[in-house]
Amino acid sequence: MTQVRTRFAPSPTGFIHLGNIRSALYPWAFARANQGVFILRIEDTDVERSSQEAVDVIVEGMKWLGLDHDEGPFFQMQRMDRYKAVLKDMLDKGLAYPCYMSTQELDALRERQMANKEKPRYDGTWRPEPGKTLPPIPEGVQPVIRFKNPIGGSVVWEDKVKGRIEISNDELDDLVIARPDGTPTYNFCVVVDDMDMGITHVIRGDDHVNNTPRQINILRAMGMEPPVYAHLPTVLNEQGEKMSKRHGAKAVTQYRDEGYLADAVVNYLARLGWSHGDDEIFSRQQLIEWFNLDHLGKSAGQFDEAKLRWVAQQHMKMADDQLLASLVREQFSRRGVTLPAVLQSGDTLPAMCGLFKDRCSTTVELADWLSMYVGDVAPSADELAAQLNDANKPALAALASRLETVAWEKGAINQAIKDTMGEFGLKMPQVAIPVRLLVCGRAQTPSVDAVLALFERDVVLQRLKKIA
Ligand code: GLU
Repeated sequence: MTQVRTRFAPSPTGFIHLGNIRSALYPWAFARANQGVFILRIEDTDVERSSQEAVDVIVEGMKWLGLDHDEGPFFQMQRMDRYKAVLKDMLDKGLAYPCYMSTQELDALRERQMANKEKPRYDGTWRPEPGKTLPPIPEGVQPVIRFKNPIGGSVVWEDKVKGRIEISNDELDDLVIARPDGTPTYNFCVVVDDMDMGITHVIRGDDHVNNTPRQINILRAMGMEPPVYAHLPTVLNEQGEKMSKRHGAKAVTQYRDEGYLADAVVNYLARLGWSHGDDEIFSRQQLIEWFNLDHLGKSAGQFDEAKLRWVAQQHMKMADDQLLASLVREQFSRRGVTLPAVLQSGDTLPAMCGLFKDRCSTTVELADWLSMYVGDVAPSADELAAQLNDANKPALAALASRLETVAWEKGAINQAIKDTMGEFGLKMPQVAIPVRLLVCGRAQTPSVDAVLALFERDVVLQRLKKIA
């Protein structure tokens, strides 16, 4: 069996949003699922609109999501010599020909065709045929190169998403594959690359469906069998428009900065156009085991922020505490907060992450929670006033004294709280809520004994003693 070889071939002309990066995720997952090779190719021939900055965001976004490539990045601008060599070869073999029709002539032709209600297409004036005499070559005109598209018959492929597609060759005129200055055109570069890179499966956005029959014809002319194609439907935003920067889409890297776990975004994007039964939550490993081209969705995926957050929350719950700790450290460093030494390494920060992660969708939210361990808290005066009263103030003072001497661990702290409740005849919330407000700055937290145990004893005592 031939080895699977897939590619992601972005044009670095804008920033890359979730919809774009899905076209990287699927070929990556398919390559990984089949012990194949995943190639990154940067299609930067639109020099005016391409930028290094856009390349950086692509590379950074893929790195963050763990979409590692085995070959590349290849840059089309660095392959010009190769394209020109193939062009020459095609001219030599009679698979392509120079066309001297001027722009004015082409315009006039188009107008005539439109007036006759015909589809505008090149009429083959310069196409060499046996027994045909070509017009005299005009002086001072640099020709374009056109591909000699087959006449008659049709191009057929079984698209993995769209099913069988058949396009009559009569619909396709002779495509310009090189401009008058000799530079190759877009479709030609793609074909040469897919051929040279031995691509077996082209998985890309369905905005390229119309290019496919032309690409197949050129490949076949060069003696190659076309790869398998899977044209992914568009990703729509929440308003049902095509996802784009103009319509408010965010760059992929922004999700990283907002604290989403890469595995969660991978999971979410994988589901946005592919399914494995009813599974909504899966790990990267499961995705790699399960991914195939037989369960790609046919209709457009619609981005849903609430669903992304839900998926993200499930992944926070499953995430390794050490990984979360390192991401939370990054979040604090972005905020310019220096962590106390005890949280810079060791098991305390991971334990904190473990305790609070169930309540979060992102590591930004987790860092928000954990800031109670990092700096001062400022409970709202109104809330404090509502919770503190003559009955529980002395109880809190008594609890503080008990906490001075107990073993500093959850079980003993719990016992100290219970003993205090017994002594003063109070119920759990009457003690636990003011303790939370004073120590954590908020009335709701996970189990109070577990939360307290992760503070330094002195911090808890100081904060409890603030009761006026
Ligand atoms: N460069 C094209 C794009 O960004 C992709 C071409 C392809 O995958 O064949 O849409």
